[in-house]
Amino acid sequence: MKTMRKGDWKLIQELNRSIILNKIRLDGPISRIELAKGNRISPSTVAAAVQELIREGYVTEIGRGESSGGRKPILLQFAPDNHFLFAASISNTVIEVAQLNLEASILRKASAPVGMRQGEGVIELMLGMIDRFVTETGSMDPCIGIAVTTPGVVNVEQGVVYYNSKLRLNDVPVKQIVESRYGIKTWVENDTNSLVLAERRFGSYSSFANLIYIMVGNGIGAGILVNDMILRGKLGGAGEFGHTSVNRSGIRCECGNVGCLENSVSWPAVHSRMMAAMASGRQTLIHDLTGGDFSRIGPAVYKEALSRQDRLAMDITEEIAEHLGAGIVNLVNLFNPEAIVLGGNVAQDNPILLHKVEEHISRYAMRILKDDLVVGQSSLGDDGKLMGAAAVVLQDLFQFSLT
Ligand SMILES: [Zn+2]
Repeated sequence: MKTMRKGDWKLIQELNRSIILNKIRLDGPISRIELAKGNRISPSTVAAAVQELIREGYVTEIGRGESSGGRKPILLQFAPDNHFLFAASISNTVIEVAQLNLEASILRKASAPVGMRQGEGVIELMLGMIDRFVTETGSMDPCIGIAVTTPGVVNVEQGVVYYNSKLRLNDVPVKQIVESRYGIKTWVENDTNSLVLAERRFGSYSSFANLIYIMVGNGIGAGILVNDMILRGKLGGAGEFGHTSVNRSGIRCECGNVGCLENSVSWPAVHSRMMAAMASGRQTLIHDLTGGDFSRIGPAVYKEALSRQDRLAMDITEEIAEHLGAGIVNLVNLFNPEAIVLGGNVAQDNPILLHKVEEHISRYAMRILKDDLVVGQSSLGDDGKLMGAAAVVLQDLFQFSLT
């Protein structure tokens, strides 16, 4: 048998601590006795871990509960407001930065358009925003970490953004840059991976350990949770759903493939299809909704036209559902998820698209895999990406992970 090294004990201690903290968070107020019973951890281990958690401010004692004979036990409760974290969400169009408590509630936030910035310019914009938060925050001692999320291929262990073609982020050591500037532990994660984590931890999909989040916005991506683990692949590039081919006679994509999903269902694709139809004289409600100012055509205008049964918006949605549905059927047959979550500015608050995609799945996915499959929209609201970034840090705090 392998003998235990000193480091293994430390690992077990940290694991117990995480299990105990998570249990208090989910089931509190709870007594030490109940914690020990429920987790098969010895009462002395629980007592030591709880003492440490109270000293560090993660847990508070809140009076006594009911006694089952003998002395009434002291109840413990999670204290999410004694610490905070910073989340920075980079997208291809906007950067958002927020300060959140340990329940992923937003305390304050700021956003700035990316504009024409690329590469270093994007990182500098983000650092400037974090700088302001740090300056306005009195003490940084209660800050447990900084999380940065971005579309593209991210090496999570090294905190390096390997590849984001639109923002020209290539081999950018974001973790190292942020940690050396602020001296605070930093996590870097792909945005859709962080979103699937947030749906699992904080959203309505918390009961699903096999969950796929699909972003249908300015780009297309998927965060894939298999048996409660994010599927990453060798370089962190798993889930590049937008670059799976659904049309071999489609246009060539910048990734080298042809007929990529991203080129037919992302917002830029929807937008260019609308513009082309209107340029050829097609009648649509979009003229009225924008007062003829086509620079105002955004996802909200498309969804408004769709909700009013505009023929052009309906036709475009039919096409999106066809391609997206084909892609999702592949995901269902490959990964056998329990639930599929659609988010992003094209799919969010778009019940007609959701319904058509569901129909497609129900018609074409393998019967045994689709029977109990849940398909729904993101439950996180407008601050989903910031909650996603927070989930990356809190995952480490609440559920000790070996990666
Ligand atoms: Zn592609």
